[in-house]
Amino acid sequence: MESAIVIGGGITGFSIAYNLAKRGVKTTLLEKKYPSSGSTGRCSGGIRNQWSREHEIKLARESIKVLEKLSAELNFNILFRQGGHIILAEDEKSMNNLVKDTETQRDVNVRTEILNQDQIKRILPFVDITKIVGGTLNRKEGVCHPFSLLYGYQQSFKKLGGKVLKFTKAEKLDIRNSKVEGVKTNKNTFEADFVVVAAGAYSKELLKTIGINIQSKVLKTEILATEPLKFFIKPMVLCKPSMLFFNQTIRGEVIGGASEPSNEGYNLDSSLEFLRTFSKKLRNIAPPLRRVKVLRSWAGLQEFSPDESPIYGKTEIQNLYIACADSGKAFTFAPKIGEYFAELITEGQTSWDMTPFSLKRFEKKINQNH
Ligand SMILES: Cc1cc2nc3c(=O)[nH]c(=O)nc-3n(C[C@H](O)[C@H](O)[C@H](O)COP(=O)(O)OP(=O)(O)OC[C@H]3O[C@@H](n4cnc5c(N)ncnc54)[C@H](O)[C@@H]3O)c2cc1C
Repeated sequence: MESAIVIGGGITGFSIAYNLAKRGVKTTLLEKKYPSSGSTGRCSGGIRNQWSREHEIKLARESIKVLEKLSAELNFNILFRQGGHIILAEDEKSMNNLVKDTETQRDVNVRTEILNQDQIKRILPFVDITKIVGGTLNRKEGVCHPFSLLYGYQQSFKKLGGKVLKFTKAEKLDIRNSKVEGVKTNKNTFEADFVVVAAGAYSKELLKTIGINIQSKVLKTEILATEPLKFFIKPMVLCKPSMLFFNQTIRGEVIGGASEPSNEGYNLDSSLEFLRTFSKKLRNIAPPLRRVKVLRSWAGLQEFSPDESPIYGKTEIQNLYIACADSGKAFTFAPKIGEYFAELITEGQTSWDMTPFSLKRFEKKINQNH
């Protein structure tokens, strides 16, 4: 029986680990803290199809198909709600970009509607339409509860014989003759036929120790939750170019952020500045929400690759695979990525071309520039 180690107990690691175990690979997942302690447990759970590039749109489209059936497969309610995503354009330039994106999306069978101000008012009556030019809506998109999705995978992974080792930090990858043989942790050394590094924003630190340099920026993203309110926001809302986003959870809290640029680094402190910026942006678009009380705020990390798309696939080291540089999209992509990694590892190839996500795409550019 072949064996694998997956490093990282976020949604990417668990989706890959579950799919490997499903294919009969003896799989151990190593997590330096506890499952969901990274970006997964801090994200807003948006599942979005409205991207600009074909390969990302296709991957999101396939992930949505997985999510639609996953509660039944895992026998666990992952709380996936397809209320749609609405993107509001605050200026003409953003509207033109959105319209262009809908054409690319249509080319790969993703149907996104273009909305005028009146149509938006009917869906979001609390929005001040004088502040927006128009928008787009994709009804297949939605929100999935991050903890439910992760725990669903974890439960089925364990039922399939998978092992989850908490508070076990991967410290070194054991490479011999350009092949990975195992992982040294703060506790033991584990041998395995295959190793997947899915340690979120910390993957690059581990990979650096074996000479793989990921060119990416790690940035803090802050987010907050309000007091619970009677349900009134069906789709998740994103505004461009302000990057304000918000949705309402099943408990009624409004969860939102503003994706403000922050300094590079691993700092996770909440700031008063974020509360001010978010409130200002929200009040501008949705004036009736100005009196809603904020209950708590927190922050998570997002790691952006140079083209703001994740890195998925093989490395130059035999049997070593990576899934990192989430670029703020890996929660959406994880359900299908798990299936692709399991195919790649057990069959040596995937039923779909993953090269647009490969690490090699950056190496080529670096070589071309020299
Ligand atoms: C505020 C916010 C909102 C977001 N909203 C969305 C959204 O709406 N939609 C979307 O698609 N994405 C969203 N994202 C991005 C999304 O959260 C991430 O892309 C996704 O959760 C990444 O999952 P992951 O499993 O790759 O990484 P993580 O969830 O970070 O998991 C990595 C795990 O590896 C562990 N680890 C690290 N180093 C080691 C080591 N050496 N040994 C063992 N374990 C280790 C960590 O403790 C962590 O648990 C958002 C992110 C933030 C911060």
